[in-house]
Amino acid sequence: MTSEVRIGNVRIGATHPIAIQSMTTTPTEDVDATVAQARRLAEAGCEIIRITAPTLKAARVLADIRRKLSADGFDQPLVADIHFLPKAALEAAEHVEKVRINPGNYTDTKRFKVKTYSEADYQEALQKLYEEISPLILRCKELGRALRIGTNHGSLSDRIMNRFGDTPEGMVESALEIVRIAESHGFRDLVLSMKASNPKVMIAAYRLATARMAAENMHYPLHLGVTEAGDGEDARVKSFIGMGSLLADGLGDTLRVSLTEDPECEVPVARELANWAHRLWANNTASTPWTEAVFDPFHPGRRPVEPIRISDSCVLDAKNPPMVAVRAPSPLDPKALSQSIAAIQMRNKDAPIEWLVVDGTDASTLPALNSLSEALAGAIHGIIVDGLPEGLTVEDCIHADMRSRLSWIVNLPMPRLIQEGTKLLSGLPLDGITLAVDWFGAPIEEKSVESVISILGSIPFLITTASIPSDLTPVGYHRLLIEAFARKGSHPPLWIRNRDSDENPEESALLLHSILTGTLLCDGFGNIVSIEGDQPLKETLQRVYTLLQGARSRISKTEFVACPSCGRTLFDLQSTTQRIRARTGHLKGVTIAIMGCIVNGPGEMADADFGYVGGAPGKVNLYVGKTCVKTGIPEGEAVDHLIDLIRQHGRWSDPEPAIPEAS
Ligand code: SF4
Repeated sequence: MTSEVRIGNVRIGATHPIAIQSMTTTPTEDVDATVAQARRLAEAGCEIIRITAPTLKAARVLADIRRKLSADGFDQPLVADIHFLPKAALEAAEHVEKVRINPGNYTDTKRFKVKTYSEADYQEALQKLYEEISPLILRCKELGRALRIGTNHGSLSDRIMNRFGDTPEGMVESALEIVRIAESHGFRDLVLSMKASNPKVMIAAYRLATARMAAENMHYPLHLGVTEAGDGEDARVKSFIGMGSLLADGLGDTLRVSLTEDPECEVPVARELANWAHRLWANNTASTPWTEAVFDPFHPGRRPVEPIRISDSCVLDAKNPPMVAVRAPSPLDPKALSQSIAAIQMRNKDAPIEWLVVDGTDASTLPALNSLSEALAGAIHGIIVDGLPEGLTVEDCIHADMRSRLSWIVNLPMPRLIQEGTKLLSGLPLDGITLAVDWFGAPIEEKSVESVISILGSIPFLITTASIPSDLTPVGYHRLLIEAFARKGSHPPLWIRNRDSDENPEESALLLHSILTGTLLCDGFGNIVSIEGDQPLKETLQRVYTLLQGARSRISKTEFVACPSCGRTLFDLQSTTQRIRARTGHLKGVTIAIMGCIVNGPGEMADADFGYVGGAPGKVNLYVGKTCVKTGIPEGEAVDHLIDLIRQHGRWSDPEPAIPEAS
């Protein structure tokens, strides 16, 4: 359990509910506009409101903002956001309930330099940090203010970068250096954050922070966030993946969903996540603890599996990215379905349907499979027959001509496989057929695992599960399943199944699918991912690819890293992001950062290939990686210049001509 920290009248940590945060985007010195936006945030349910203080003057006007909000009855704690300016932090501490500093730039205004830090250099830099940050810590202690040590991937100090690189280890050490100084002054009203735009990086960093703190007997609350997530569904998925994964493991005390949208839009998304976590924790069904026997929670890599070779172009293994399956509408109409799949494949060359899940438990499906198989040969890798009608076995159902044209995975619930094991093996024509074993809500017992392994012998198979016992979370159940097989020396590939029926009145399917799929993918698990529901195939397909891209497991489109904007922003982030997306959204594998200011933007755009950054009012600077290559471009011309730059670096391709939708 984390320690309790008081932020004005809000307490976080310990057993307190998760507090929702957001941040104003108005220029701070425009006091009326900032107060009005803060009021809208409070009315939307925001419990802690952050405001940037980029100058001493902005830090001073926080006093007016606090006074006006309090006079209007809005007592939500305010947080001053500080980068590079210790004087502004000291001033802000006089007026607001909490100060956020970035340990990477509080004392360090330099650009990253390639320099080897000797132990003496390192200690000298630490001493400088001690001297510069101690006044703020002591003043916060006197005034009863809280302090967030907000580390960001991409903006670490030279000292940390040289010793640890831009890694979760560096992020954690950067924060702990300040924690140790604060503790030396007897100050403990601290909150830590380890944000990154890449959910995999932030998940690892928060886990590592928790473990390192525990090792030093520190238990400070965690402020969760996926930074620069962008907008729309992509941003929600990234946020749900990163924060949901941590909350599923019981980590997180306060959170902000960072969107390139109006700040009020962040609050309901954050609330949904927090409510989900509260229900999970109240049911005492936190995820299974990290099963370190099967993965390293701090440096997860792809889980090694026993490969299943389906064809030359389709191997389920640890090297190939996870494959994509969608469920066919039922009852099966082979002609209509094959036409609609052909149209989808033509328009989605980088994000095709690879597997089709069909309901095998409906006896009427089986006769239709032959003609579907003929029609889809060459268009997809294969069909997953989900279950079989009562009384029939695999060999009853799979005809020779089907096998010759498409690959098949036959999915059987585990109890049925065990019951019918001998019969299956006696006549199963295995050529072209793979089995999936569905732990359909069954307990994961040693004897069941042993039975499956002994029945299947050397036959390659996938494991999956479509329903979860109520005393476990979906993430925990999958972890247990993988671990149970690993203990027996078996490493089957995993099929991650999401169902639209997972949606319930409290949570959206988007949230549940993002958390389940994202957590497993970020931990290196998953070889097929499906969403199975009643939505049109095209939308479902898009959603699966968004989940895969959100977890950085399979990149099928441009990755946008866009800051949410704040009082420093120098152009309209929302409309600019949309204009850039409209021109470049087809560039598979290219990461473009759109950042509102040069103070923080270049540091925080982490692993972007190209950056579009506000340099001055009406002027844009362009970056390749972290190197600024063009400055002062008039805003009206900057998108064209960005595209020229992408071309010059060989990363441009023309968009495919639009194919009209069939009427
Ligand atoms: S990068 Fe964006 S959110 Fe960050 S300080 Fe600059 S304008 Fe504000």
